[in-house]
Amino acid sequence: MKRRRLRAALLAVLVLPAFAATAYDYQLKPQAVADGVQVLVGKTENFSRENGGNIVNTGFIIGRDGVIVIDTGPSKAYGEQQRAAIAKLGKLPVTQIYLTHAHPDHVLGSQAYPGVPIAALPGTTQGLTRNGDSLLSNLYRLVGDAMRDTELRPPTMEAKSGEVTVAGRRLRLIPGLGHTDADLMVFDEASKTLFTGDLVFFQRTLTTPNADIPHWLKTLDAIDALDFKRMVPGHGPVLRDHAGIAQTRDYLQWLRDSLQGAARRGLDMPEVLQLAIPERFQRLAELHAEYERSVAHLYPAYELETLPTVPKSRPQ
Ligand SMILES: [Zn+2]
Repeated sequence: MKRRRLRAALLAVLVLPAFAATAYDYQLKPQAVADGVQVLVGKTENFSRENGGNIVNTGFIIGRDGVIVIDTGPSKAYGEQQRAAIAKLGKLPVTQIYLTHAHPDHVLGSQAYPGVPIAALPGTTQGLTRNGDSLLSNLYRLVGDAMRDTELRPPTMEAKSGEVTVAGRRLRLIPGLGHTDADLMVFDEASKTLFTGDLVFFQRTLTTPNADIPHWLKTLDAIDALDFKRMVPGHGPVLRDHAGIAQTRDYLQWLRDSLQGAARRGLDMPEVLQLAIPERFQRLAELHAEYERSVAHLYPAYELETLPTVPKSRPQ
């Protein structure tokens, strides 16, 4: 009995602290997409304990005298490992962070960069200030241990639309909207690489918790007109063409038309969930889970649109 207690005590002293100190290993491997432009491509999955929330693309641009990070990932551990992956490629410090939008998988690694300015659109900062706590607790629930010690570090400066030279690198900051009410794109002029954030999804079904489909479609038209050579979507593989824009647009248009049609026919939500999804979308990762979520997010507004407007009664 005594020996067993001793062994338990030894375990607590020796093993548990060591175990507790081991962070989730994201095994981040930067992928060079252009001269000085690197991407950490996430899995095209849903949040899980197994993937530690790494379902997102983040990237960095190595400038003349510093490194620019675009999105910091889902957790403190991810941010720290992103920082370590950057350090492996050179001695330059990270001098600037851009956050594309206020979704947790893109922003929660910023803690790994104390003192580094974090730029975002005002709408992103407002969204994070408003919903930060619930985004954080939601991800703790879905991802668990990989989130340990993660806290939200809010943006510290405004990303202003237009050209800017950062760390000796010319960037164009392009605001858009539709995936959320503030979606920042970062365009690297030297390599013509466009980081779209979640305005473009490729080979993974898009998400809609804060979506506005008409605005999103308009922004996609604007992206189509840009002279990029490489595109880093928010989720899915890096592209050298416009296929990601076409796929995102196709799915959004189908979703809009299908939900609008269903509302006009008077279908209720369980019936909408049973509707067939076209064959061409079947190869998108997380199709059924995201479709269900999108119906929950978007269908009530389409139903509302079909209700007759009742004229206000005049005061007697
Ligand atoms: Zn997003």
